[in-house]
Amino acid sequence: MLDVLFPRLCAGCSEPLQRNEYRLCLSCFVKLPLSDFKKGAANPVERLFHGRVLLESASAFMVFKKAGLAQHLMHQLKYKGDEELGVELGRYFGNSIKRQSYSALPEALTCVPLHAEKQKQRGFNQSAAIAKGMSEILGIPFREDLLKRSTLTSTQTRKKRYERWENMQTGFEAGNCSEFKHIGIVDDVITTGATLEACVSVLKSGGILQISVFALCISIK
Ligand SMILES: [Zn+2]
Repeated sequence: MLDVLFPRLCAGCSEPLQRNEYRLCLSCFVKLPLSDFKKGAANPVERLFHGRVLLESASAFMVFKKAGLAQHLMHQLKYKGDEELGVELGRYFGNSIKRQSYSALPEALTCVPLHAEKQKQRGFNQSAAIAKGMSEILGIPFREDLLKRSTLTSTQTRKKRYERWENMQTGFEAGNCSEFKHIGIVDDVITTGATLEACVSVLKSGGILQISVFALCISIK
């Protein structure tokens, strides 16, 4: 009844969804530009970080191309406020990781934090939405407090000088992560890898030995 009055529409093509479809219709689902990267030397996400930071694994779910379906979905997620779409795409990503039977999954997932102002504007962090969906499927806790945007506060004066310097360089700082050995960082779109690299460095200097990165999309030119 509600579907007749207020049809739920596909986030990809705006056509009405069938009862058993959620956020995406089946025909958009099968058109998702999956990356299908395998772990190893040819994986473009792993290659991007090669020689920069040492990672347990690096993966991306989709390949982002200009005017493609992935770009359209990211636009719906980020600028149209479709948080549930982010969670659902995170579930897809989680399922694909499950199918690839990763050797070592992280003990906890976190995400690239947004600037406080941007988060206020958008109302949510799109990478957190993705991480929540992944967490649900993989059965790994999502902890938003493991990484923070650094702000120059009085607590920083108590930190070691090097750490303070590094925080100022990267714009991020490690949160309450001491209970974990292996953490997975989730991001929406990876382009140069600079943001994720900065996040990885602060977690490493915070004592985390194993880090994996999961980007919903990778932008390849
Ligand atoms: Zn559709």
